[in-house]
Amino acid sequence: MSNSAHIILKNISKYYTEGDQQRLVFKDVDLEIQPGEFVVLLGRSGSGKSTLLNILSGIDEPSSGQVIVNDIDLTNLSEQDRTLFRRQYIGFIFQLFNLIPTLTVLENVLLPLELTGKLKKAHHEHVARLLSAVRLTDRVNSFPDKLSGGEQQRVAILRALIHKPLLLLADEPTGNLDSDTSRQVLNLMTTLVRKEGKTLVLVTHSQEVAQLADRIFVFRKGQLIEQHSKGESV
Ligand code: ADP
Ligand code: MG
Repeated sequence: MSNSAHIILKNISKYYTEGDQQRLVFKDVDLEIQPGEFVVLLGRSGSGKSTLLNILSGIDEPSSGQVIVNDIDLTNLSEQDRTLFRRQYIGFIFQLFNLIPTLTVLENVLLPLELTGKLKKAHHEHVARLLSAVRLTDRVNSFPDKLSGGEQQRVAILRALIHKPLLLLADEPTGNLDSDTSRQVLNLMTTLVRKEGKTLVLVTHSQEVAQLADRIFVFRKGQLIEQHSKGESV
């Protein structure tokens, strides 16, 4: 298997059922993302951005349509197999960092290797180098609540990449950081992702962040529309 995700979304729609009402989130989305591409998703709050990321990672399922990642049709997998798929092939970065509060920085970073049974002694050196590269060496034994937001997000980025996923998904990763820290975190994330040739799908509200991407898509009225002229208003 390639080390980067090739994604095909075929005609996916998502509805939520509430009582006897069906509420449409999005309808008939078709999208192909090439290995190594960096794609940004824009759209108002509630437009379906997080729902789409959750579908790409196998946390959630579309109501109809197919989701194919490197020839694996996620819509044919059981929930348990989707969990295994996610652990092995996906790295996720969240707005609120989502580090495990009872684990140290080092333990948080190593967690994806532990969950996939791939943790070896040799990894400790690799992790030490990574932590040094993001200036966190002196925080390896700290707990997340002792770190600043920017430091927590640097830990989360390492955690998302440590198991060499095919696909990195980032849901408003700088939404909780000041603008200087946002810039640093984005630089780090895009540099690492580009260096390793990983596919990146990033949700943001920021047109400035969006300009870093290869392609920009906007959710509007339940449709996913490619934004051709950069800077066009949402
Ligand atoms: P965004 O990330 O773009 O802000 P979301 O993908 O979180 O939007 O949500 C899209 C829509 O789906 C919203 O209207 C939200 O209320 C609805 N939604 C999300 N999750 C659920 C759920 N588990 N049950 C019912 N409705 C949901
Ligand atoms: Mg969201």
